[in-house]
Amino acid sequence: MDYEVIVIGAGVGGIYQIKRLVDLGIKATVLEAGADLGGTWYWNRYPGARFDSESYTYGYSFSREVLDEWHWKERFSGQPENLRYLNFVAGKFDLRKHMQFNCKVESMRFDEAANLWRLTLSDGRTLTCRFVILALGLLSIPTLPKLEGMDRFKGRSFHTFYWPQEKVELAGKKVAVIGTGATGIQVIGEIADKVGELTVFQRRPNWSAPLSNGPISDAEMAEIRKRYDEIFKTCARTPGGFEHEPDRRGFFEVSREERVKLWDSLYGSPGFAIWLRNFREIFTNEEANAEFSEYIANRIRQRVKNPKTAEKLIPRDHGFGVQRVPMETNYFEAYNRPNVHLVDISETPLVQVTEKGLRTTERDFEFDIIVYATGFDAITGAYDHIDIRGVGGAKLRDRWNDGPTTYLGMMVSGFPNLLMPSGPQSGSASTNFPRGIETGVNWCTDLLQYMRKNGHVRADATAEAEARWTEHVVQMYSIMLMRKAKSWFTGYNSNVPGHEYGRPRYMVYNGGAPKYVQRINEVAAKDYEGIRFVA
Ligand code: NAP
Repeated sequence: MDYEVIVIGAGVGGIYQIKRLVDLGIKATVLEAGADLGGTWYWNRYPGARFDSESYTYGYSFSREVLDEWHWKERFSGQPENLRYLNFVAGKFDLRKHMQFNCKVESMRFDEAANLWRLTLSDGRTLTCRFVILALGLLSIPTLPKLEGMDRFKGRSFHTFYWPQEKVELAGKKVAVIGTGATGIQVIGEIADKVGELTVFQRRPNWSAPLSNGPISDAEMAEIRKRYDEIFKTCARTPGGFEHEPDRRGFFEVSREERVKLWDSLYGSPGFAIWLRNFREIFTNEEANAEFSEYIANRIRQRVKNPKTAEKLIPRDHGFGVQRVPMETNYFEAYNRPNVHLVDISETPLVQVTEKGLRTTERDFEFDIIVYATGFDAITGAYDHIDIRGVGGAKLRDRWNDGPTTYLGMMVSGFPNLLMPSGPQSGSASTNFPRGIETGVNWCTDLLQYMRKNGHVRADATAEAEARWTEHVVQMYSIMLMRKAKSWFTGYNSNVPGHEYGRPRYMVYNGGAPKYVQRINEVAAKDYEGIRFVA
């Protein structure tokens, strides 16, 4: 056997996972498809890419030294700094020597007789290991629209995920951005005053509110360092894994004036406060959600000068917060600039990419650069891209054809010794990612230690345990307005066959971080109830 454990992916999850394994003296390696570590923060180099989580709640919590030594420069740190941070952590613990880059895993098969995994890499190598830990990322397979003529365009075009590493000259250029999700909204706000002309192609608007970024001074950072224990304690207590705690007063128990007073204080408060410090009914009650959505709509009307444009930027098909809320900096003001144009492609759809630009049903547009901010084959996409075969040669891709089914979001019945610290239906997918990732990595590592201690060579979730967990995940969706949303939380992606709207997939765990942690700890305390071990 080449390794005891192979970790796939050297992003936020993979880095922490290999740290834990190395500390335990386990023979392990990380295989990373990219040319270097960093995952999300290695790839997404588009202008404006930054945390929507407060930087000091996003960083790792496991090392006091890292907490003491790293100075976050901004409340919501940008991509270059984030990548530097991950390199700092990897450097500090000398983790690079346990990582192999440009290593794409094409297939993996479970050998039932030997109780090990056999991996085939794109460079032709095969590797064996007892356990595979998938740290693939939730948003790591970018997707493009299927437009006729996409290879015909003579200018430059790229998905935001693949924004070039070298500087892209924007000054004086005619730029198109397709897509107005969290990514598009960050790019648009950032480049509006740097390009010649910017044309935004919007299919559906998104609810969005100010990020309110700002620098963190030395004195503030010193205060944050003193508060780290308290910060992480709060993150562990809140459903989203942030410092933001919901307002626990009943929406209808306080007066309209009281509600507006809260919203006035939240609008412009940093980060997800507007989403997560709000009344809980926003997420579950149509009437409450509609009232708050109208409040935000009026904010948009106040910020966008042209009333027709303002109306086009207000979502009609969903309420505030039932999809992931993009946080913005100067996004709405961008549309007040004479060089920024909004094209509503729900009215005049894109039909073709031409040599010179884009064609809608109405007219032709000429561009130097086309930016596709069109999202991801989220959560399960990266799993579907590896040919994973478990017991009896069963394919994971087939098993998840109609959506994922898992045990605790970390195991799949019939795929023994395969662990997913932040898998579909786990606690990390719907929370501040690194907080959930640390939880998942710790749980998976504890499981490995338990198996070592007891001489087990094989662990497999039972079909019953998996069915119970998946049923619980489905039930959690039933109370949330988000179940109806056309978003990656429900598995929607118009560019991926089978992921059309109306075929809901239960992708994330909506019970909140504390309930999730409680549940997985209970399972561990009961000798990993729901998992069948072989010695
Ligand atoms: P997204 O939210 O899925 O948005 C994709 C956008 O592209 C949508 O506006 C979508 O329109 C549009 N689109 C997709 N296919 C299209 C097509 N064929 N024709 C026209 N328009 C099309 O993707 P994203 O913006 O990359 O964000 C994904 C997630 O990444 C976020 O929700 C967030 O969790 C994460 N993210 C995080 C940060 C951060 O933490 N700072 C920043 C960026 C992203 P429809 O709405 O009509 O489908």
